[in-house]
Amino acid sequence: MARHAQRTTSGRCRAHHGRSQGASVTRLPDAVFFDRDGTLMEDAHYIKSPKQVRLLPGAARAVKRINDAGIRAIVVTNQSGIDRGIFTVEDYEPVKAHFEELLRADGARIDASYYCPHHPDFTGACNCRKPATKMFEDAMRDFGLKPSNVAYVGDRWRDVAVSRQLGGRGIMISSPMTNDEDRTRARADEIETAGSITDAVDMVLGLTAANKRA
Ligand SMILES: [Zn+2]
Repeated sequence: MARHAQRTTSGRCRAHHGRSQGASVTRLPDAVFFDRDGTLMEDAHYIKSPKQVRLLPGAARAVKRINDAGIRAIVVTNQSGIDRGIFTVEDYEPVKAHFEELLRADGARIDASYYCPHHPDFTGACNCRKPATKMFEDAMRDFGLKPSNVAYVGDRWRDVAVSRQLGGRGIMISSPMTNDEDRTRARADEIETAGSITDAVDMVLGLTAANKRA
């Protein structure tokens, strides 16, 4: 269950009390869309066995802080290894289960998870593979989320670029998979960046100022 006890009061309420010019108000998002591989767990290239699952440093703590703030934590992941024939949906499921189990062992909870099995070279274009929007739109519909009040955290431009199309706040973190093209595109799109998942969650929770925001 989502808890919203820590959400700030509305601007109208603050104005009514004559403090509208006071301390900055942090509006928490209703959901954070996390990328999985390279963001929460090691990107070991087409992970097909639970034995390959390694949480990245800070990942469980980051998700737990989102849980504790009453914000939905939703995983959205491209898994083209399925259509490439590298692994199957039957392989994907136990990997997902073990990933969530490791998080749970550290007190963190994933509220929902969406994946795209496609790749344009193998199955033609689809409208779910990130940076396409369908998985996010499905999640927004499933959870009744307002696109303007969500955040996206991932290590690739394609994980967060949807913020430019649907609204909400994209924050790109750095991983070994983050390349120059990702950085260039993020800069062109004025997408915020963070040095780590911990910093990204600090930004989501309003604990540090954005380091790159118009
Ligand atoms: Zn797809």
